[in-house]
Amino acid sequence: FESKLPNLGTSIFSQMTTLANQYEAINLSQGFPEFDAPELLKKQLNHYVLEGMNQYSPSSGVPRLQQQIAELAQRKYGAEINADQQVTVTSGATEALFVAIQAIVRRGDEVIIFDPAYDSYQPAIELAGGKSVNIALHAPDYVIDWQAVASAVNKNTRAIIINTPHNPSGKTLKQQDINALKAIVSAHDLYVISDEVYEHITFDGQPHLSVLRDDALFAKSFVISSFGKTFHSTGWKMGYCIAPTSLAVEFRKIHQYVTFSSFTPAQHALADMLEQQGEHVDELSEFYQQKRDVLSNALKGSRFTILPSEGTYFLLLDYSDVSELNDVEFCQWLVEQASVAAIPLSVFYQQPSYDKVIRLCFAKSDETLLQAAEILCQL
Ligand code: PMP
Ligand code: GLN
Repeated sequence: FESKLPNLGTSIFSQMTTLANQYEAINLSQGFPEFDAPELLKKQLNHYVLEGMNQYSPSSGVPRLQQQIAELAQRKYGAEINADQQVTVTSGATEALFVAIQAIVRRGDEVIIFDPAYDSYQPAIELAGGKSVNIALHAPDYVIDWQAVASAVNKNTRAIIINTPHNPSGKTLKQQDINALKAIVSAHDLYVISDEVYEHITFDGQPHLSVLRDDALFAKSFVISSFGKTFHSTGWKMGYCIAPTSLAVEFRKIHQYVTFSSFTPAQHALADMLEQQGEHVDELSEFYQQKRDVLSNALKGSRFTILPSEGTYFLLLDYSDVSELNDVEFCQWLVEQASVAAIPLSVFYQQPSYDKVIRLCFAKSDETLLQAAEILCQL
């Protein structure tokens, strides 16, 4: 059998969570909250299931959820979105990313992505017959060299995928990054896929610079988000894509044949949540900033170097002073010998990266974070 993705194995998230369970380790590897979804969300899901909202929704989503998403984009970013035509509800951001990529990438097209890159971009590009052009960013600051991006653009370039706040680095794009991106996009015929799943998790008072804030940039973009991150409900796999009408039409052609529609009761429950407890979204940054600070303060006495986290629920640690092992070996050792599971960063690079950096997820109780930090401080 000739595999369509010969170089691909099991995702690092599945691998590390399996190891964490096997060794009964504290699992700071795969990114998911240890705390539960809000009561209202759970109650309303239950309500709509029992009320009989159990059949297909319209393919592009339950209209009242589309409306709530558009209103959130207006409130947060001043974006004027047509809920009916431009918002499509999907089964997680993963589906939205896959569909957006299939919608625009043709055989032979190139897509610029930044390593360390979230692991679902590359296979989706390859399955569309495209090729990724990977631009590597490195510790400690993971800054994008936009000159290098401009040089990588050629007649085959079809799209650039950005991700802010960025998984795994925790870095956020600044206004000069958005300006540079905009200059490149307007000078060439290409599109932006903007992965903004951590849009409501930014720290130290920094705003999230959504592509939705800029009409000209949005005109060439698919903006993708996930309710999993926002409402501590990663297992629900609910997300969405906002795109200008002409791009949304193409997106929907494919979405209808990938999933057709997403889980109807969850769509109603999410609409209620956004309508009745919109403040949850506004409190998320502060909530996670406190978690970041608990973990980084507790690690201050350790031999790890803590890299800055400006958003997401991830913190990077440089372990150069702790071990000579490469990052994959170090994470293996850490889970087996120290009972802490982390993610090695090199797996998110196409070209080998020799940075000695691991990722910890701090979407955990303070108790779990302190327990993990106590172990790490002894290394
Ligand atoms: N993009 C990034 C950067 C992510 O971290 C995640 C979640 N791990 C996703 C996309 C996928 O989101 P979802 O679980 O809603 O499919
Ligand atoms: N996005 C999560 C992470 O970065 C994992 C998602 C998954 O397991 N596919 O850890």
